[in-house]
Amino acid sequence: TNIAKLLDGKALATKIQQELSATITRLQPHIGRPPGLAVLMVGDNPASAAYVRGKERACAKIGMASFGKHFPTQTTQAELEEVIHHLNQDERVDGILVQLPLPNHLDAISLLHQIDPDKDADGLHPVNLGKLVRGEPGLRSCTPAGVMRLLQEYEISLRSKQAVVVGRSILVGKPLALMLLEADATVTIAHSRSQNLAAITKNADILIAAVGRPELITAQMVKPGAVVVDVGINRVTDDSDNSRLVGDVQFESVANVAEFLTPVPGGVGPMTVAMLLQNTVDSYSQRLKTKE
Ligand code: NAP
Repeated sequence: TNIAKLLDGKALATKIQQELSATITRLQPHIGRPPGLAVLMVGDNPASAAYVRGKERACAKIGMASFGKHFPTQTTQAELEEVIHHLNQDERVDGILVQLPLPNHLDAISLLHQIDPDKDADGLHPVNLGKLVRGEPGLRSCTPAGVMRLLQEYEISLRSKQAVVVGRSILVGKPLALMLLEADATVTIAHSRSQNLAAITKNADILIAAVGRPELITAQMVKPGAVVVDVGINRVTDDSDNSRLVGDVQFESVANVAEFLTPVPGGVGPMTVAMLLQNTVDSYSQRLKTKE
């Protein structure tokens, strides 16, 4: 049997962070301050809190200032808009991100629209999404950018390949499909209303699962020799009440058919954080250009 090679997002993310750290050391004397990232979190969703801690740790590690702000669940839309407005003006801040999901009484979309597109570290502002659609440079959303960077690192060519993205969220599936298209793949997007999913995925040279359904993609749905990227992060509990993380891909079986496969955890997850830092450093180095 063929055992797939792992696409090691954890190792690549570490390498990217070292490079970013060196870039910061080089630019800081010219800009006169470190880059700054502001992470806004509302309420106490434990998964969100863990993600935010991870992002703040990563900032500290590479010499980036973090302006984390944690708000109580009952914070109002107007209060958050005010905070975003201040961060937009704050010279020390290069990136702003709102940790999703937000409590139900808040309108996340409208908040994302308030962020200065040049400080939109998550690449979710409509201006940046529009630039992606047009193929113009701009801040790209972190998870899809992380997937693209991972494929590039392993020199996986996309040109003229059949790529299938399962999932069409604005966070992952839709922007990723556009990025694959930009790289000259022939792209199919599947979703919950697609018929005969297995027949679609079986055509994929590059198969991306961004669904949020534990182990939906099984070996029978994968073309032998395909590159399989698992974006899903699902917490499942087994019969003895032990909880663990699994992806949208059934790792054990798919590893016997795919040529390349991402692990969960340690695949796309760490790449998302690396791209967040990368976007912030990119905005930071723009400051130097506007100074010159
Ligand atoms: P989402 O907003 O819930 O979108 C899920 C997508 O999957 C939707 O487009 C949905 O179709 C489609 N779908 C649902 N069930 C399906 C099925 N049975 N067959 C085919 N398509 C189906 O989720 P998301 O934000 O894109 O996230 C997807 C997964 O990635 C989650 O597990 C999430 O935790 C994970 N994630 C990981 C990272 C990371 O850093 N690694 C970042 C973000 C998200 P419809 O549009 O028709 O409803």
